[in-house]
Formats: sequence, structure tokens, C-alpha cells
Amino acid sequence: MAQDKSPKENAGILDVETMTIFCKKKGFVYKTSEIYGGAAGFWDFGPLGAELNNTVKRTWWKRFVQDRDDVVGMDGAIISHPKVWEASGHAANFADIVLTCTKCNFKARADQLIESTLGLKCDGWKAAQINTSVADNHLKCPECKSPFNEAKDFNLMFETTIGPVKSAENTAFLRPETAQLIFSNFKIICDTSRVKLPFGIAQIGKAFRNEISPRDFLFRKREFEQMEIEFFVHPDKIKDCPIFAEVKDLKIGILTSEAQEAGKDCVHVKTIEEISQKYTTQWHAYWLGAILKWFIDDLGIKPENLRLREHLKSELAHYASACFDIEYKFPFGWKEIHGNADRTTYDLTQHMKFSKIDLSYFDEETKMKVIPYVAAEPSQGVDRAFLAVMFDAYHDDKARGNIVLKLKPSIAPIQVAVFPLVNKLEDGARSMYRDLKSCFPCQFDRSGSVGRRYARADEIGVPYCVTYDFDSETDKTVTIRDRDTTLQIRVPIAGLKTILADLIAGRAEFSTAGKKIEAK
Ligand code: ATP
Repeated sequence: MAQDKSPKENAGILDVETMTIFCKKKGFVYKTSEIYGGAAGFWDFGPLGAELNNTVKRTWWKRFVQDRDDVVGMDGAIISHPKVWEASGHAANFADIVLTCTKCNFKARADQLIESTLGLKCDGWKAAQINTSVADNHLKCPECKSPFNEAKDFNLMFETTIGPVKSAENTAFLRPETAQLIFSNFKIICDTSRVKLPFGIAQIGKAFRNEISPRDFLFRKREFEQMEIEFFVHPDKIKDCPIFAEVKDLKIGILTSEAQEAGKDCVHVKTIEEISQKYTTQWHAYWLGAILKWFIDDLGIKPENLRLREHLKSELAHYASACFDIEYKFPFGWKEIHGNADRTTYDLTQHMKFSKIDLSYFDEETKMKVIPYVAAEPSQGVDRAFLAVMFDAYHDDKARGNIVLKLKPSIAPIQVAVFPLVNKLEDGARSMYRDLKSCFPCQFDRSGSVGRRYARADEIGVPYCVTYDFDSETDKTVTIRDRDTTLQIRVPIAGLKTILADLIAGRAEFSTAGKKIEAK
């Protein structure tokens, strides 16, 4: 098995490069158009990756749209009227600061370069502050050691042309976030969906940012996917959340702005209730808790690898009154996988100003028009959730000599693998497989030793392997092997579907779901 591994995997090092190689080798993610050398910041999902990615989105949509009475969904266009981006402020302000080398033309995102070379956090810095820091610290191009030109703003929106004539009037943008379409559709959704405050509008879709330095595999892409909710409340009722009890006791580490300002990387574990009492409104804290529950309960991420980070005052966007990131502990550090701002009434007000259309909401109770207040904007990157899931599940099992991808069974791209013990048992095994395949994503594997087949299944995260052997022909029972413990149980084929469904849904304990047997 060890010969299949990259040198880093063999040395037990799990970094972003090891994960990139692993994902390619196992059919999860590849560089896009690799046969032509790829394109920086763009990636394709292979057969297993597409399954997992769709499952991540499906769990989110089910939990936050289908299972709730107070959120409706929508699906907006990628290209919209350019005024959308003027109103939102993206046309003028959606920029990062770029440093360009005077000699080799190398370009670096200024805040990332300063953070990695000087260890300084410079979120919210303007070009002038960057220039001072570059000069004071004699920062040079990492490629050729020449000086940099003056730092400049670089707008991250991708431009395109609508129709055959390239002109200023025909210029449009690929959306850099999905959220703005929710605001521009706000009125029509209110008029056609009978929603009543408080309510949310959710959307999943592609977003595009011409990132200066795409990096860390799926973490910083130029084309990525977002799952966003704008949650609107009555402006006079922004504080009290009637469903707060659902999340209030959840505990999570929090890195406060106070700690960051004091230069301390200390995290205190607090309940969502404590967070609401000290740092933000109940509604905002509620949504942080609800998303954390999705990460933990649906995606199976270990709570100790998640934390909240409060934004510094200097980082807050002009429209936000509070903002928190959910961060995941990647091998390259604690990094944002989710952003969640209290966005006030800013966006609807802006769109009213630019469109000259009344986007206010008529409150039946008070018989008054109000501009709804966005108490929380849970903004989730699909790719960063996918990456967190992969890192969390990856386990180098030295005793077995292979990687075990310990995905939560309910999100595994292949949930059951079926093996005939020897090839002459294939007919019986195949008929069982066909029956299972109508209920679960299944794989049939007849090549190599059973041990080799277990290892292959472990590496792609298959939670249960079912072996059909000689006894199965006569006593109509089969062996199920559990990926994480390697324990095996014997169960009747007649009850197999129910047992597997219970195991996958977490309703049954493996050791008591059948007759325990010794591993062969
Ligand atoms: P960063 O500071 O890392 O650039 P951001 O604060 O600009 O991120 P938001 O605008 O808050 O990100 O976007 C919400 C979410 O969208 C992020 O938490 C992340 O999961 C995802 N996201 C943003 N930019 C990218 C990207 N370039 N590649 C992949 N996912 C992204």
C-alpha cells in the first residue's frame, strides 16, 4: 500500500499539497483542463468530489430551507444588471490591494504578503498604510528580490460583455457573491411568497472573484460556490429571537476582537447564549449557532476544529454593525470558512436609492411600512466546507497501512461496497448489490484480495463493506465490516437494507446491529 502514497503521505505529513494529491488520486478534485496545463484558481470535481459537493449543498438546503417555515429559496442569474453592483458598492469598493514587482512583474496580494513575511494582520488597511509598511520593512519581491511599485487597488470582479458589441454600456460582471440577487429580488419574493417577518431568503450558486493570488487548493479559488441566507427581521425587533432555545447551550471557542487587539491568540469557550449577551444580538448569535450545528451534526466536523472569530472594528464593512467568521483549523492555520454579518438595512436602502423602487415591507400588525433589517447573513463557501470535511475526515492509519477517510456515513459519496469473496460467487453478490443500489450509493468490487478491497474502500470513505461468501449461498447471511473500527457483524440478507439504512442514519450501533464475528 505504501508505494501508492506520495513522499509526504509516507512521512505522515498532512498539508494542503498532500490533500491536493490525495483528492486527485482518488477522483475527488482535479485542476481544471489539466490536459492543457490548468488555469490558476479553477478546479473540477471528479466523480466522488461531485457527489460529496452535492451532498454538502443538499444537507444545507434541507436544513435551512426545506425543514424550516421561515426561509424560502431562490436561484438568481450569474450576470445581472450592472447597477446591482453599483448599488451594493462592489463596483467602487470590492478591491484588494496589489503589489507589483518593478522588475519581474510578479503580483502579490499586499495583506497576504505582509501577514506571511511580517506576521502583521492588516485587514482594512488602505494603500497608503501598505506603502508605508512596505517601505519601513524593506519588503521586496519574493521572486526576484527587486522593489515593488506603489500599492494599488484591484477590483476583484470579472468583467464580461453582454451581446456582440464591446462597449462601456454593454459591460457586465460575473457576480462576486450570491447575496445581492436576494436583495434585488426582495420585493418580488415578498409579493409572491406570502412571507412574513422574520424570514430569510436562501440561495446556492456560483460566485466569481479574480483573486490576486489564488492558493491553498479549494480555499481561495477564482470560481467558487456560495450558500447564503439573508435573514430579515422587523427593525424594531432586532434583538429578541423567539427560537433562540434551539442553539443557546451550544459551546464554541471564540477569539474576540479584544483578544486580537491585545495581540493574544487566546480562545475562550462560551455558549451561544453568552455570545449573545456580550458580543452581538440574539438573532445574529442564533444563526452562528445554527450554522455550527450544521457543520457538526450534518457534516460530522469535530467541534474542537471549529471556532468563532469576531471581526475587529477596523475590519468591519461600512454597512455591518457586527461580523463573525467561523474558522476551521486547517494545517495552514485557523482560516475563515463562513462569514456572518449583521448587515443592518444597508442593502435594501441602497437598492431603493439606485432602482427608485420602493422595497419596503408592509407590516400587517402595525399597518406601517418598514425597511427590514438583516439581522444575520450566513454566508457559506461550499468549497471551503468541502475542504474542511476532507481534512477532518483524513486519517493516516499506520496499522492498516492506508488512509481511512472517516466521513460521516450519511455524507459519504459511496455508502456501501459489495464484494464477492471469490469470483465464482459474483452472481449472488451482484443481485444483492443491484437491490442495495436502489437505496444507497453503492460500489461493486471484485478485484484483488478482500484486504486490498477494504483498503480501497477506506481511502474513499466507504463506511460499510458487505462481503458475500460461500455461507451466504446457503444461510443467506453476509458480513458487514465497519470502516472506522474494522469490526465485523453477520446479518441476514433479508434485513440488510434496513440495517444499513439505520447504520448510515446513525440510528443503530454497529456492534449490536448483527452477530459479532472475529475478523478474518
Ligand atoms: P477572504 O477574507 O478569505 O477573502 P471573504 O471575507 O472575502 O474571504 P466573504 O466575502 O465573507 O469572504 O465570503 C463568504 C464565504 O465565501 C467565505 O467565508 C468563504 O467560505 C467563501 N469564499 C469567499 N471567497 C472565496 C474564494 N476565493 N474561494 C473559495 N471560497 C471563497
